Amino acid sequence: MRISVIGCGYLGAVHAASMAHLGHDVVGIDVDEAKIASLSVGRAPFFEPGLPEVLESAAASGRLRFTSDFAAAADADIHFVAVGTPQVADGDAADMRFVDAAFSSLLEHVKDGDLIVGKSTVPVGTAARLAELIAEKQPGATLAWNPEFLREGFAVKDTVSPDRLVYGVPDGAAGERATGLLNEVYASAVAAGTPVISTDYATAELVKVSANAFLATKISFINAMAEIAEVTGADVTKLADAIGHDARIGRRFLNAGVGFGGGCLPKDIRAFSARARELGQGDAVRFLDEVDKINLRRRTRVVELVREEAGGLAGVRVGVLGLAFKPHSDDIRDSPALEIAMRLAEAGALVTATDPQAVENARRRAPGLVFADSAEEAVRDADVVLLITEWPEFTALDPVGIGALVAHRTIIDGRNSLDPAAWRAAGWTYRGLGR
Ligand code: NAD
Repeated sequence: MRISVIGCGYLGAVHAASMAHLGHDVVGIDVDEAKIASLSVGRAPFFEPGLPEVLESAAASGRLRFTSDFAAAADADIHFVAVGTPQVADGDAADMRFVDAAFSSLLEHVKDGDLIVGKSTVPVGTAARLAELIAEKQPGATLAWNPEFLREGFAVKDTVSPDRLVYGVPDGAAGERATGLLNEVYASAVAAGTPVISTDYATAELVKVSANAFLATKISFINAMAEIAEVTGADVTKLADAIGHDARIGRRFLNAGVGFGGGCLPKDIRAFSARARELGQGDAVRFLDEVDKINLRRRTRVVELVREEAGGLAGVRVGVLGLAFKPHSDDIRDSPALEIAMRLAEAGALVTATDPQAVENARRRAPGLVFADSAEEAVRDADVVLLITEWPEFTALDPVGIGALVAHRTIIDGRNSLDPAAWRAAGWTYRGLGR
């Protein structure tokens, strides 16, 4: 099929390359010339495992190209819109300017019979509004909303083999045709038995935000238990294991630590709350404000733990392991690690931070921080070591070897991802969260 993908960021670039990998003819379009230049020579503009390989194979097949010229969309029949929906600067709502601009540019080049497919995470009601715009500008085209559930770090796999497909489509024949076309786009996943939920626009939009709200709530739930564990001497990791054995609860997403960050969960729960308030239903999701607060309190708790262990922050040498919001990504959007590193530095600590992939992004955001190329360099002469992003190379560090490099053997494990016994046996003061 002939596909255009508008917006080639973490979602769109992976989607474009994966669709070409699956055999479709794809053009990726973005307003960011630097990103297009990089993608055009087959270079991923960000770190995502597996993306370089699909970019390379798709480029070699001749089925994938990138441009900043929207006119290229005219060659496609199905147009995925994957532009950003960040939080507005002065509130909680989603900033819809990029989606609106993308639709307005795209509609100049859409033909009768084309299918426009929204992939961005949007406030409920957006698709209905955009369908009206399409009816006015290009009544021969149809809109579907197909929310994306990929996880950064596993984005290619999640795109090629999603765990479910959700289509928001209009009623009647146009909706049936849209469902059929999307099933053709995702033919390999559909043939493999991937569940397909074809529904109305509002449900599809809400599926995405409610999934993220649920995941955020699960994380904040266990972090709230960590707060209680900290004042009672209980161990939240044992608690999570014990409650996780209940199949109704499940162990996944019950790891207490510094909480969630990134370009999705934090802004999505805030945008959901903001939209619910607009709809006069703020009470229904008021718990999400608490979920957000619990999450942010964990970042403060880590800063306080460093202060407690070092007897202050001014002049204290802190080696920070991790900057990305999670391992296997270079994404620093709303990263707990970067925020904690910056807050420590602002309070006078001498921070040296490292990350296997996110140093360059972090340097652009926080040029005042000191960065190191390796964990060994970051922790050299440190008074406190802080592990915040659980990259395998950090969780596999040898406490004896690392112990020889630091000034004081104090480690704060912001992800509860180390073996406390092994670190204590090597002479370290070990502090986790909620244990
Ligand atoms: P991103 O910031 O990495 O990418 C957005 C891209 O859109 C950028 O390259 C930007 O230059 C481009 N863009 C902005 N305005 C444009 C326009 N008018 N025309 C063409 N391109 C334009 O963001 P992202 O992480 O890829 O997220 C995109 C959307 O997908 C968001 O709504 C996000 O919530 C959703 N989403 C993201 C993920 C994820 O893991 N990153 C997962 C699921 C859903």
